[in-house]
Amino acid sequence: MLALRLHGKSDLRLEDIPSPSAPKGGLLVKVRACAICGSDLRNIKAGGSSHGMTLPRVLGHEAAGEIVEVSDGVEGFNMGDRVLLSVTVPCGKCYYCLRGLTNLCDHKTALSYQYDGSFAEYVAVPEQLVRTGGVIPIPESVSFEQASIVEPLSCVLNGQELSNTGLNDVVAIVGAGPVGIAHAMIARVLGASKIIMAEISQERLEMAGKIKVVDRVVNSGKEDFVKAVMEETRGHGADVVIVAAPSGEAQVQALSAVRKRGRVNFFGGLPKDRSTITIDSNIIHYKELFVHGTSDSTVVHMKKVLSLIENKKIDTGLLITRTFPITQYKEAFDLASSGRALKVIINP
Ligand SMILES: [Zn+2]
Ligand SMILES: [Zn+2]
Repeated sequence: MLALRLHGKSDLRLEDIPSPSAPKGGLLVKVRACAICGSDLRNIKAGGSSHGMTLPRVLGHEAAGEIVEVSDGVEGFNMGDRVLLSVTVPCGKCYYCLRGLTNLCDHKTALSYQYDGSFAEYVAVPEQLVRTGGVIPIPESVSFEQASIVEPLSCVLNGQELSNTGLNDVVAIVGAGPVGIAHAMIARVLGASKIIMAEISQERLEMAGKIKVVDRVVNSGKEDFVKAVMEETRGHGADVVIVAAPSGEAQVQALSAVRKRGRVNFFGGLPKDRSTITIDSNIIHYKELFVHGTSDSTVVHMKKVLSLIENKKIDTGLLITRTFPITQYKEAFDLASSGRALKVIINP
């Protein structure tokens, strides 16, 4: 089968490798759509990841497909079932898993890190993913492409649940990449009345402006983000500020852009070697701020997003830029990293 395997720094190869079969207690899925994630781009550049990725590795973890093999004894799944795959393979037994916080599992592994991923014609789904509910049926009216972007949206939903985004909130988002746009869409669904988006790339800002999911775009290279938020909120600040860009400076600014008692979400991680920032902690103290992070999501979030898509509460068409066959992977990855696209999907 054709598969995109990472061998080292900037060394992603399209290879013909033996097709896997369903592992004991698991499934074999024919991949029909797998979206490119920002983390794929970072892992290709770095030649791996700090999250225990071993090489060579088939990448791709935002995947949907069709079950073509069911291992003996696996119940509840049939050949031909259309399914969406979770990325995270939680242990199901640790302190956090037992509290339903599988995204924070102490022993978690993941597809495309410790197991081969889905930029391939077939993906072997491990028993552990089946047992922990990570194989989710796709409703008939939802396409494979739509299902493949559930994962990033579900991470965004987890973040906004933690930020408690609600009715009439003003939400300010830093970063107009696919994740920033997904934040705007989810914030709207949750009842936000005004969405402000800041971004340094004019190209990305124009894209955000065009799809009309935000009320005000701010070019943070030219305009003062905090000042713009104050203008839009009669000087109070936003109810929620989400930093969806790898910028320490933006994290510091977020504390000034949020209102008193507001919520600040450090949604995006910072580069490993630049993850220390200096803040005036008195701002948090006197403004009674809630500052938190977000990492990953659970199958509960994925199911909620799938239902939002099924019920047409999220227009996935705005988020999906283009689908490529696996043989055109170079073009697909170039487009995904160009800043001129939102979600780019590989169809193996
Ligand atoms: Zn992802
Ligand atoms: Zn666990």
